[in-house]
Amino acid sequence: AAEEGFDVEDVEGAIEEAGHGPLPVLAVVGRPNVGKSTLVNRIIGRREAVVEDKPGVTRDRVTYEAEWAGRRFKVVDTGGWEQDVLGIDASVAAQAEFAIEAADAVVFVVDAKVGATDTDEAVVRLLRKAGKPVVLAANKVDGPSGEADAAYLWSLGLGEPHPVSALHGRGTGDMLDAVLDVLPDAPAQTFGTAVGGPRRIALIGRPNVGKSSLLNKVAGEERVVVNEIAGTTRDPVDEMIELGGVTWKFVDTAGIRKRVHLQQGADYYASLRTAAAVEKAEVAVILIDATEPISVQDQRIVTMAVEAGRAMVIAYNKWDNLDEERRYYLEREIETEFGQVAWAPRVNVSARTGRHMEKLVPAIETALAGWETRVPTGRLNAFLGELVAAHPHPIRGGKQPRILFGTQAGTKPPRFVLFASGFIEAGYRRFIERRLREEFGFEGTPIHISVRVRE
Ligand code: GDP
Ligand code: GDP
Repeated sequence: AAEEGFDVEDVEGAIEEAGHGPLPVLAVVGRPNVGKSTLVNRIIGRREAVVEDKPGVTRDRVTYEAEWAGRRFKVVDTGGWEQDVLGIDASVAAQAEFAIEAADAVVFVVDAKVGATDTDEAVVRLLRKAGKPVVLAANKVDGPSGEADAAYLWSLGLGEPHPVSALHGRGTGDMLDAVLDVLPDAPAQTFGTAVGGPRRIALIGRPNVGKSSLLNKVAGEERVVVNEIAGTTRDPVDEMIELGGVTWKFVDTAGIRKRVHLQQGADYYASLRTAAAVEKAEVAVILIDATEPISVQDQRIVTMAVEAGRAMVIAYNKWDNLDEERRYYLEREIETEFGQVAWAPRVNVSARTGRHMEKLVPAIETALAGWETRVPTGRLNAFLGELVAAHPHPIRGGKQPRILFGTQAGTKPPRFVLFASGFIEAGYRRFIERRLREEFGFEGTPIHISVRVRE
């Protein structure tokens, strides 16, 4: 490395940074209007207000990456879901329940100007039950005169209330320091101690694509689909299902089976549930209704899984109900809409007839294998050397940026760091990714490539 102009420490630092595993998840929960979205914006360091959203407007994006004091984590914003037909307590409880389930730590936001309400107390009970670390944010303390209001929140029994002004940023740094004190380095749920335990699958897709039907089919038993009010159920959320002689853990199946009648916020609720399931899983099986045009919502779900860095399989369901014409258009749509995830194994199934159910497990195994692939540094550099010699980067401004060497910094999903002599254009990066995939497989997994340029 040294003779290529990179300092050994730089190289090691870059590898460590690129190689980070899955990030721990922080959920921000609380009643409507206490300032959750404002606080999330503050944490992720963006001003454009998610806050302007009207209730009921689709909010697909619920997890964001954030960084504080050099540590990276994910933030789940539950601010997009306003009170709905369930009534305030049930809706806040349901929203908090999903978020807490997926989180490694929680920021509980209370409006210090209003003080603790019954709804706040209800959330406190959920938090106690979940046993996750909690940081209490006493929000809307815009100036010193508000500090006294914050102190009243000791009564919630969650320890020290951290007075903050999400709006102005007052106190949020101290609050984040407190968060980092309790947030684990890696998500316990996803990569816990259960090495060799069952692999975790999230079965996701928009409503009515057949998730519940597929789950019933693979589990080999009819399940009761009931009308339940979210947040009141005591169902286990994860289910062990044996497939192909192996036990798999399907995460968040209670969410799949629940039938919740929501009007406002229903889409948002579905997104939150999907995000929570994806966070907990190693591999996402994304179910698409093949009889209907691929929708924006389908694409958003795919994007969610890719951005979370999970292994992925795409299953096209209702294959029993496809005519020639639809089949023709489906193939065109897959090319145009899912071109970016052409690496995902595909299965054409029917939850109704059981068609190709046996192909599901091999596809999942392929995706997990790709997700865990590690390319030895020697092989990688032999490959890169040949590639760069045969297909050099275009000359820019009289110079030719060159990839000097590279290494795989991590797996799950595979992450690479490439060290270069100059700026590497996006097109050339995509070319490298394509060739890496051709050479080493990586079927069913996103891959990350970061490039370091010699100073
Ligand atoms: P959410 O429903 O919990 O996500 O709450 P929002 O983030 O949408 O905020 C609700 C309202 O409270 C908005 O009008 C915000 O501008 C306001 N707000 C949020 N944080 C603060 C704060 O720290 N101080 C004051 N004065 N207002 C705030
Ligand atoms: P979920 O909302 O994703 O859980 O979807 P459901 O499992 O509730 O299915 C929605 C509808 O699609 C139901 O009417 C199912 O009977 C139907 N459905 C599910 N899978 C199939 C399939 O493979 N073929 C056909 N023709 N219909 C299906």
